[in-house]
Formats: sequence, C-alpha cells, structure tokens
Amino acid sequence: MENKDIKLINEDGTRIDGRRPDELRPIRMKVGLLERADGSAYLEWGGNKILAAVYGPREMYPKHQQDPARAVVRARYSMAPFSVDERKRPGPDRRSVELSMVISNALSAAVLTEEFPRTVIDVFIEVLQADAGTRIAGLTAASLALADAGIPMRDLVVGCTAGKIEGVVVLDLNKEEDNYGEADVPLGILPRTGEIVLFQMDGMMTEEELCTALDMAYNAAMEIHRMQVKALKDVYMKEAEEGGE
Ligand code: ADP
Repeated sequence: MENKDIKLINEDGTRIDGRRPDELRPIRMKVGLLERADGSAYLEWGGNKILAAVYGPREMYPKHQQDPARAVVRARYSMAPFSVDERKRPGPDRRSVELSMVISNALSAAVLTEEFPRTVIDVFIEVLQADAGTRIAGLTAASLALADAGIPMRDLVVGCTAGKIEGVVVLDLNKEEDNYGEADVPLGILPRTGEIVLFQMDGMMTEEELCTALDMAYNAAMEIHRMQVKALKDVYMKEAEEGGE
C-alpha cells in the first residue's frame, strides 16, 4: 500500500523513527522463563513482544500424522486479541495458518529431525504485542526456545526483514513502513552457512534492490545471532557457574 501523504524518509535520509536505512530496531531476548514447557524464550523487537514455548520431541498423535523417518516440527503462530489496535478475533485465521506453515518449514530445516522419528516437536508462538515483523521475530524466538529445550539443530535460525520505502532499501520495517512502504521481504537465515530457510515477498523490487536487501539482512542476521548466543549463555553459563545442569 502506498500513500503519498505519509513521508517515511526524512530530509537527512533517516527514517520516521530516526533509524538509518540499515539499522535494526532495539532487540531484547530472554531464554527459559516458562517452567512448564520443555523450552521457552521471550523476545522484544521494536514494539513486538513475543513468547515462544516448545514441547517435545514426544510421540505424535494422531498416529497417521507420524513420519516414520523423522520428527515433525509443528509451529503454531497465534496473535493475542490485545496484540493490535483493534481487538483481534481470537483463533486461527488464514494469515496465522500460513505463518504457522512457513515458520514450521523454516525450523524443520534447522532441527535434526531424523534423530527423532515418529515424534512431534510442538512450537507455540504467542504474539502479545505486534508492530510488524512478527513472523520473523516469532521465528527467532522459536529457535531460541528449541535450543532451550535441548533439541539438536544444525544451527539457530535468525529471522530478519528487509524492504523498500520511498525507493530506499531498508532493514527491519516498522508498522508504518510495512503499511505504506513499497516492498517487504521477510527472511529466515541459518547464520553459519547463510542458507535461507524462509523467503517471502510482498510488493515489488528490482533484482539489484533485492541483492542490496539480502546483503543488509545477512549482516543483520549475524548481529541477531550474536544476541541469541548471548541470551543462551546468560542462562546456561550462569547455571554452570552455580553448579546446575
Ligand atoms: P508480520 O507481522 O510478519 O510483518 P504482516 O506483514 O502480515 O506480518 O503484518 C504486519 C503487521 O500488521 C503485524 O505485525 C501487525 O502489527 C499488523 N497486523 C497483522 N494482522 C493484523 C490484524 N488481524 N489486525 C490488526 N493488525 C494486524
């Protein structure tokens, strides 16, 4: 959606929230805050507030959904009724079904699913407050929760969005930029190899712009990955120092 009345880039080249084109919103993460789940994580990313919880691997029911060769990673993305300005009708809708699927696929590419045949790994992503980029923030939190549950993975998964507003390629679109910008490309990246496990695109970009966007997102993924590792170390190194697990 484009709107000529709304200015997204200031005279000095900064964005409406003061960021440079390649600057992320502030991100905070915390691992292992829910006691009943096998693994959990909480993430604040700009105005997004997201909780992820993991159960499993456990036996898959109904049995006909079992995969005899590997575990099924089943993510459920859900937005709380109070997460947006107008109350959101609770329960699944087309969008949340689609997001659950793309997030499940992205996480499956990282988890060593062949180690747990016939099982299911349930990942619940609860968006408590939404401010654009919830699918990639949810993915980032989910991968931390999987690590907290001790589930073996090839790598953590980092989510990140790049896009285009007023002809400028920018990183990590906020709500106004997402609404009134020209393009939005959510990505899921495995930081060690740079492999892309989630790729969607809303709007139009030239090939050159897309290359710039991917470069930006890749650099940001490295930065977010360092935050993920720190969040895990904050819990597990502390436990080790205290003589815990
Ligand atoms: P993402 O959150 O991954 O960017 P979208 O591009 O579909 O996904 O949504 C952008 C933003 O629009 C969301 O983060 C949220 O702030 C808002 N939004 C999405 N769905 C709704 C809804 N049903 N009601 C109100 N706002 C919504």
